[in-house]
Amino acid sequence: MFKQRQPASSKNGNMVITVEGSQSARNLPGSNATSWTKLVLDMHSPGTSARSLTCSYCNVEQPPRAKHCHDCDRCVLQFDHHCVWLGTCVGQGNHCRFWWYICEETALCLWTGILYIIYLKVNISRAWWKDAIIIMLLVILSISLIFLLLLLLFHSYLILTNQTTYELVRRRRIPYLRGIPERVYPFSKGLCRNLYNFCFVRRSMDELERIPNALELEEMSRPYTCLDFLTCRCC
Ligand SMILES: [Zn+2]
Ligand SMILES: [Zn+2]
Repeated sequence: MFKQRQPASSKNGNMVITVEGSQSARNLPGSNATSWTKLVLDMHSPGTSARSLTCSYCNVEQPPRAKHCHDCDRCVLQFDHHCVWLGTCVGQGNHCRFWWYICEETALCLWTGILYIIYLKVNISRAWWKDAIIIMLLVILSISLIFLLLLLLFHSYLILTNQTTYELVRRRRIPYLRGIPERVYPFSKGLCRNLYNFCFVRRSMDELERIPNALELEEMSRPYTCLDFLTCRCC
């Protein structure tokens, strides 16, 4: 998340930036806010105006992939979604932990289901109403497990292609993604690099992802050939 500039700090696991939010502060020569504006503009395509990037709620320029969350009332870096269960946004800084959280929930659900099945097998001749309750719980567990597994697979796909839920769902409405072919993932560095970055790289504010230029996008949209598979182009 960000509200201000300066070194990224963390709130609820999200990145928080500190900025002097007022327009006058941003216009001061040499101020942090001015260099922030320049940094953000450099990350976008040439010709993008600072005005079109300014969040009307926080009054700061949004780097690519950032979005204002109305629930948290702040802009979130690499915004994925606002999780109502956790009561916070999932974005840069906590997406990795969110994936592990889903993974652990899935494992817990699976393990509980196995224990229930073992219990049912051992105690099948006991009172029928006890079995009925266990079977009902097993059905609820199975539904939860399917949901969690699908969520885990979905987020794994997002991680491998370096996308966010917001970018995937609103692709046609996000200005910097408009016009990019469907099968091109502009922030992807290849499967292995995406996975490595997601697991091990913690970006500082000066290392935010920029929008690829036209040449890079053209290279990404080039169809795969046999040679590309042999040279592991996607990695
Ligand atoms: Zn905002
Ligand atoms: Zn939020």
